[in-house]
Amino acid sequence: LPRDLYGSGRPNSRGVEFGHRASLEALLGEIGRSARQPFKAEPLIDGKAASGEVCRIVSPIDCATGVGEVVEAAAETADRAMAAAQAGFVGWSRTAAETRAKALMRAADLLEERRGALLHLLQAEAGKTLDDAMSEVREAVDFCRYYAAQGRTLFGSGDAMPGPTGESNVLRLRGRGVFVAISPWNFPLAIFLGQVSAALMAGNAVVAKPAEQTPLVAALAVRLLHEAGVPQSALHLVPGDGRVGARLVEHRDVAGVVFTGSTEVARLINRTLAMKDGPIVPLIAETGGINAMIVDATALPEQVADDVVMSAFRSAGQRCSALRLLCVQEDVADRMIEMIAGNAQELKIGDPREIDAHVGPVIDRDAKEKLDAHVSAMKQSAKVHHAGDAPAAGTYVAPHIFELNRPHDLAEEVFGPVLHVVRYKADKLEDVLESIEGTGYGLTLGVHSRIDATVEHVIERLSVGNVYVNRNMIGAVVGVQPFGGHGLSGTGPKAGGPHYLLRFATEQTVTINT
Ligand code: GLU
Repeated sequence: LPRDLYGSGRPNSRGVEFGHRASLEALLGEIGRSARQPFKAEPLIDGKAASGEVCRIVSPIDCATGVGEVVEAAAETADRAMAAAQAGFVGWSRTAAETRAKALMRAADLLEERRGALLHLLQAEAGKTLDDAMSEVREAVDFCRYYAAQGRTLFGSGDAMPGPTGESNVLRLRGRGVFVAISPWNFPLAIFLGQVSAALMAGNAVVAKPAEQTPLVAALAVRLLHEAGVPQSALHLVPGDGRVGARLVEHRDVAGVVFTGSTEVARLINRTLAMKDGPIVPLIAETGGINAMIVDATALPEQVADDVVMSAFRSAGQRCSALRLLCVQEDVADRMIEMIAGNAQELKIGDPREIDAHVGPVIDRDAKEKLDAHVSAMKQSAKVHHAGDAPAAGTYVAPHIFELNRPHDLAEEVFGPVLHVVRYKADKLEDVLESIEGTGYGLTLGVHSRIDATVEHVIERLSVGNVYVNRNMIGAVVGVQPFGGHGLSGTGPKAGGPHYLLRFATEQTVTINT
């Protein structure tokens, strides 16, 4: 990785070499010690816990072990959080950018110091493998440092504009007000903190609603941010389901919404905001995709096999960026598919806390039921190239590979470890590209080809947020691969990129006749 992403001398957060026995054992020791603590997520308003309905969070690993307790916010608690945030905005927006940045930098350090508890929760609450959990903690740390470093400059004293003598003109950025941050269960720490840290850095107060499946890790992150120096009046937490999110979005005082989740919910939020009286409120949404990879006859088969399996099945396929539709040139399809299925055969599906596990459970019973139904339907209608076995306890779904006749046969995003393959004739690449464009999504795209003209043509032809050429198509790194899509996949701007913070701010020009 590049050593200096921020122009501040800070490298990306460091990983752990799992092959190095002593380092791995030290890490597992940290996780094991943390696992003994009780975890609780409560609504936190001005740092004080509010009451609500208490529910137990059960691990998807076995659907039996309790991970902790969540106190779900009632509607009036959501309203109180909004009022408290509105009051907190006044002080936080006037706090110097340097002070805000320092708090986020300190939070990043605390995340690294307390990684044992975070890793434990990412595994027990969200079912992540150690590799995925570790990448996620690093990404969360990177988001905090990246936005802090950028914010120092952007939200400093403003930019002097050229103008007539006798006048000073300064353009400056300010927070908008109260930002509502609604985050997903698939990156319950990294995306949660990416949203929250950006909104805070820009000078907003935040009311955060984590996904109902993963409130515990979010609650821990909020406590670390408070400990790091983010005032309790500037950051409030309201765990709960979609009804709590809706209540927040409907609130009179909302000045902006940042959301990651389904396209359908993004639309709903957009409609709610549009129908409200009062100011026009912006939405920053990152949603799904029917992400494709194109593999032509010049691609390197071993590399394709590795990259496809990684892109489709890592994180049990529960990434927005994951590969859903593999389009292989007919001349090489048999050989490619055989190699991919061979690699998929090697995947170990099971308890993600076992260090050699590749595929853990999907997030909950609802997700498993939906995926199982899709797999059953595909077994009737498509050619099966691979069907793995999954443990019976827990919410496991084994990786599957199905061959479809046409790209259109995959009509919606399937959010799990199911890969769909189509073959295309060399002279019919245009039809494939048209089908991909026709989905209306535009998040990630993979291309495996050694012909520059083909690669250039595909990149030009498709309006997609992140294109990966001759590599896998997941795991965007903060400051290296700014991430986010277009059309049905989101509004932009890209998370972990240089334009993200700007959308959380308003601009003010101050002209003074000197
Ligand atoms: N940024 C992640 C990646 O590149 C995906 C984020 C998401 O699933 O929302 O894999």
